Amino acid sequence: MGWSNMKARVFSGVQPSGNLHIGNYLGALKNWVEIQSNYECIWGIVDLHAVTVYQDPVELRSKILETAALFLAVGIDPKLSSIVAQSSVPAHSELAWMLTCVTPVGWLERMTQYKTKAQAQETVGDGILQYPVLMAADILIYQAAIVPVGDDQAQHLELTRDIAQRFNSLYGETFVLPDTSLPAVGARVMGLDDPEKKMSKSTTGSGHAIGLLDPPDQIRKKIMRATTDSQPAVNFDGLGAGVENLLNIFQACSGCTTEKVREQFAGMRYGDLKKTVADMVVSQLEPLQKRYHEIVSEKGYVDCVLQEGAERVSPIAGSTVQQVKERMGLYTGA
Ligand code: ATP
Ligand code: MG
Repeated sequence: MGWSNMKARVFSGVQPSGNLHIGNYLGALKNWVEIQSNYECIWGIVDLHAVTVYQDPVELRSKILETAALFLAVGIDPKLSSIVAQSSVPAHSELAWMLTCVTPVGWLERMTQYKTKAQAQETVGDGILQYPVLMAADILIYQAAIVPVGDDQAQHLELTRDIAQRFNSLYGETFVLPDTSLPAVGARVMGLDDPEKKMSKSTTGSGHAIGLLDPPDQIRKKIMRATTDSQPAVNFDGLGAGVENLLNIFQACSGCTTEKVREQFAGMRYGDLKKTVADMVVSQLEPLQKRYHEIVSEKGYVDCVLQEGAERVSPIAGSTVQQVKERMGLYTGA
């Protein structure tokens, strides 16, 4: 089955803002692969979001291609899905402006991610505040019915629905209200160095995240050093956040049930737990890394996939913007 207009549409994206990690994989990418044959899927490398904090231009350019190659390496099939660099479809920015005009500032100031990200900066770029409106535009421009994301994006999805609803009530039914789809396990992978904080690309520290392209010995080292607690072994009556995180990572990678995890790990000493989790993560990432290296060795292939993706989705984006312009009374020609 190929690209079709009959299936419900799905959109989601990743910022090319650093090294993709197992949180991105378990919370998002892995689930994208699973649903791509049942929906009309559009996966974005959302570079305009990445520049809400300064990115070195040379580095950014290479991260865009790396991210696209990783999409392919995890199993996104460009025959079933469209892979797009956000900035190559200018209609995203155009719609973002129109949506900005119907979005109260108070809604944006309430966003948890805005509060955290703004705290971390000396001067706060307007982009940090506006970013969820651009995200709403990314989704609404394709009339996406489902958006598979990690737990940290649930609030932005609610905002997206609020913005869509507000636009619809001001200008008439225009946008599909998208549903949020979270994975049952792996929706929120925590930092290995601090299990109270979400694992993030933009968080520094060598022991924080497991990169999808980390060599196996480095993955093992990071997991063996992960923060746990003062107990010696897994106790399901009082799981510390660090141990719970390792168990979640195992479960999300293996796909096994919660009962099975309990059976396997109850009473296991932390050293053995970490070794088992590390083996599981390495066995998931090794084939992915092999495919990644094959993909990038084929010169020009990734650019070709991105160009094809943009060509495929641009008409959809363009027609939404045209409709929005008409609804708002903006100039659409004689
Ligand atoms: P940044 O620090 O630059 O924001 P990030 O790691 O949060 O990077 P994003 O590009 O913002 O990654 O998010 C891409 C996708 O990965 C989103 O669907 C998001 O919900 C998901 N995701 C991000 N971090 C995690 C995590 N720790 N656990 C599960 N899913 C995650
Ligand atoms: Mg993020």
